[in-house]
Amino acid sequence: MSEQTIALVTGANKGIGYEIAAGLGALGWTVGVGARDQERRENAVAKLRAAGIDAFGVPLDVTDDASVAGAARLVEEHGGRLDVLVNNAGTTGNAPQMPTTVDVSTVRAAVETNVIGVIRVTNAMLPLLRRSASPRIVNMSSSVGSLTLQSAPGAEVGPISAAYSPSKTFLNAVTVQYARELRDTDILINAGCPGYCATDLNGFRGVRTPEQGAAIALRLATLPDDGPTGRFFDDAGEVAW
Ligand code: NAP
Repeated sequence: MSEQTIALVTGANKGIGYEIAAGLGALGWTVGVGARDQERRENAVAKLRAAGIDAFGVPLDVTDDASVAGAARLVEEHGGRLDVLVNNAGTTGNAPQMPTTVDVSTVRAAVETNVIGVIRVTNAMLPLLRRSASPRIVNMSSSVGSLTLQSAPGAEVGPISAAYSPSKTFLNAVTVQYARELRDTDILINAGCPGYCATDLNGFRGVRTPEQGAAIALRLATLPDDGPTGRFFDDAGEVAW
């Protein structure tokens, strides 16, 4: 089995995921670039390698069982195990998302990628993560998934949304349940919020850079063995659920 620390980042071809891959690679780690589109994946891998990073492409559509199973096989071939999984791939889904008028297919699509995709990928990678001495799972969530922040009087945490925000609330809830089941293992699993970053996801309206957004994932990916699990963080500290 490889001595090299090995990580997989989903949705790593652009935006925050790309910067997470770059940041983990800069630590000297081998990084699997999970991405569903061949050309975008190959371009990202080439760019990371040009920066001196030991990156390899992992064809991965988080909504597809066969694709995810193939990704697990590929990661196993590369290192025999997985040390860090960053579930970053995400979608806002189509607009509009007002609860009273939303098309239910919009809700279903957001949940399929942002929640079920995370469960599918995590469970496929768990056998490989269990072979690591210090396995870490990072779920890229959002403060818009915080029920506390969403329901605070006068709060304006993102637009009203029946799909994207609740999908991140659901992801947070799933993160807690994983932590409960895995609490007697070495696996630490946490949710991270990158802040409002300028990416395709929001038409580049975010005020932070994708690199700044990646910082919380890097922190949660490199937690010490006695670090937290089943919690939700951003750069400023703990986020209310
Ligand atoms: P982005 O630039 O749109 O990137 C999203 C990534 O997810 C892309 O690589 C995309 O691949 C991938 N993806 C989407 N569906 C996928 C699927 N079914 N299978 C595999 N990959 C898939 O967005 P981002 O802003 O970097 O977002 C990254 C994460 O941060 C998301 O989970 C998002 O919810 C979260 N987040 C972002 C912000 C923000 O302000 N940007 C704030 C809070 C949380 P394609 O290129 O193939 O579409």
